[in-house]
Amino acid sequence: MRWPPSVEEFARLKETLAWVYARSPYYRRTWDAAGVRPEALASYDEFRTRVPRLEKTELVANQRAHPPFGELLAARRDELASLHTSPGPIYIPRLASEKGGTPVLAEAIRAMGVRRGDVAHVTLSYHVMPGGLRLHRAFEEAGCLVINGGTGASRLQVQVAHDYGATVYAGTPSFLANLGDTAREMGLDPKKDLRYRVGFSTAEALTPALRRDLQATFGIELFDHCGEAQIGPLAGECRVHEGMPLHARDLFCEFLDPETGEPVLPGGTGEIVATQLGPRALPLVRYAPRDVFRLLAEPCPCGDPSPRLVFVGQAGVIRKVKGVLVHPAQVHAVVAQFPELGRFQVIVEHPPGERYDHARLRVATVRPPADPAGLARAVAERLRATVLIGMDVELVGEGDVPEAAGPPRFAEAMVDRRTTA
Ligand SMILES: [Zn+2]
Repeated sequence: MRWPPSVEEFARLKETLAWVYARSPYYRRTWDAAGVRPEALASYDEFRTRVPRLEKTELVANQRAHPPFGELLAARRDELASLHTSPGPIYIPRLASEKGGTPVLAEAIRAMGVRRGDVAHVTLSYHVMPGGLRLHRAFEEAGCLVINGGTGASRLQVQVAHDYGATVYAGTPSFLANLGDTAREMGLDPKKDLRYRVGFSTAEALTPALRRDLQATFGIELFDHCGEAQIGPLAGECRVHEGMPLHARDLFCEFLDPETGEPVLPGGTGEIVATQLGPRALPLVRYAPRDVFRLLAEPCPCGDPSPRLVFVGQAGVIRKVKGVLVHPAQVHAVVAQFPELGRFQVIVEHPPGERYDHARLRVATVRPPADPAGLARAVAERLRATVLIGMDVELVGEGDVPEAAGPPRFAEAMVDRRTTA
């Protein structure tokens, strides 16, 4: 889509809003309370200033209060075709007519120079979450032969990529690095014995250092992509490799100043607020995942007129650590299970020259633990099982963690010391 939006895009948005208002109890209630009638909205500016935003926390809370799908649901249960789950957990039912972002991905795949006959090796998870299956369908649509690699089992993945002659890698950059190490352990040369030509990098930051490293290991051309769990794929690099053109077709995307809510023009930095267009089982209107992007000032020299995005980070306290979104409330839920423990801070670092982020939990003891080392181990284990990332756990004194790190606001609970090297 264009940004700022065109008249046609606003007209399409209004059609969707009328459809949603007629079917979803949640939106009818919140828009009535705000005095909003979709057919009466005269301009994008009116939409922006009058239609309430939907925060991720609100979606989660509404599904908890009205399990399993919440009151946003706009379809009957027997109209639902499939069900995806994203971290939270958030349940995302889908109508058979919803493409789930595959047209956007197919466009991103074409922009990478992938062609019919390429063999695509998809290494995102196929379990529960939508990522792997969605990419799989998109590569099929683009005419590729697709390998459902999934996550883990590195040696088997190397063997399969080698035996099938995979030419396209799709997944996180850190797992690609892992496959390179594994190939060498197996006595293979990643550049000669594997045939990856193109890499679809997603779900994790592709730092310049990591890109150079992978390029040297595989002789591969990597393309950075970004998306969001609920709204799906958004943008991806073309062969110019300067920012990610916004490919989203069935999304009405706004880029707004996180402080003022005013539109941000090309050249500026703004938070994305997205509305899904067309009929959806669980429509998201003015959904604000709190992702902040910089908009490049000029359109791409390749001729694509779409705005180009550079991911900046998360607004607020939620942080992406090792590709996983971590909210301090999730960590708090674990820490609170141990009566010896109080406030905490999560320190996230990216040590220079290393491949992965490091996360360290500094947690205050409020009473002396009988076995400090055992306690730290138990906390680390439970974090790995529930928050899904590994953290070093360090027990500290109560005065060593600022009060502002505590619940419910957790303002200083996440300390991000990563630099964009
Ligand atoms: Zn381009």
